[in-house]
Amino acid sequence: MQKIVLASSNAKKVKELTELLAPFNHQIIPQTELGVADVPETGTTFVENAIIKARHAAEVTGLPAIADDSGIEVDFLKGQPGIYSARFATMHGIKTDNPDQANNDLLVEKLKGVAAEKRTGRYQCILVFMRHAQDPTPLICHGSWQGRILEAEIGSGGFGYDPLFWCPEHQCASAELTPEEKANISHRGKALRELMAQLPKYLPEASST
Ligand code: IMP
Repeated sequence: MQKIVLASSNAKKVKELTELLAPFNHQIIPQTELGVADVPETGTTFVENAIIKARHAAEVTGLPAIADDSGIEVDFLKGQPGIYSARFATMHGIKTDNPDQANNDLLVEKLKGVAAEKRTGRYQCILVFMRHAQDPTPLICHGSWQGRILEAEIGSGGFGYDPLFWCPEHQCASAELTPEEKANISHRGKALRELMAQLPKYLPEASST
């Protein structure tokens, strides 16, 4: 079975990705289990940041690596918070022990009084697979999920902005979806299905297991 390091330390994201990857015959090992620390995300695009994370994990472990970089783009905020989604509140000088909550509070505040039709946005996810740290042709997969930003939080599932993300497919907040429902329509689910379709070409021995 091919071992692949998962270059994320976000426990909820690791859980989601590991569940999505479960049906495939690879041994997915979160980077924290292999002593890989987070690397600064210095890129200015989701693609650059995902490559930075995958390259770092592959370098430290000597294993092929999968990395995810994702975030939410809000049209009324000209695409913010985008690649800064995880750091939205701290980049606004807000000190907090609970960044997800502080991010959501800030988003609610920034969209206060904005009409429903102007509250459009989407999650974006880039998944990168690198065979090794010097891989010159990383596999890059993209998924997006169009929705709307709610005025107040609903639901307790998912993570991050999910209580504020209105999912048009199920007419509820994404924090109200089951993990399976979310995986079927989410940005990460879409990117991952593309990755799994392409992976055998990049990892020939994995296709025969
Ligand atoms: P990253 O770990 O640098 O890729 O940061 C991604 C950030 O985007 C997360 O910390 C969340 O704030 C947000 N995000 C990405 N995907 C999701 C999702 O599926 N639900 C909720 N928030 C998400």
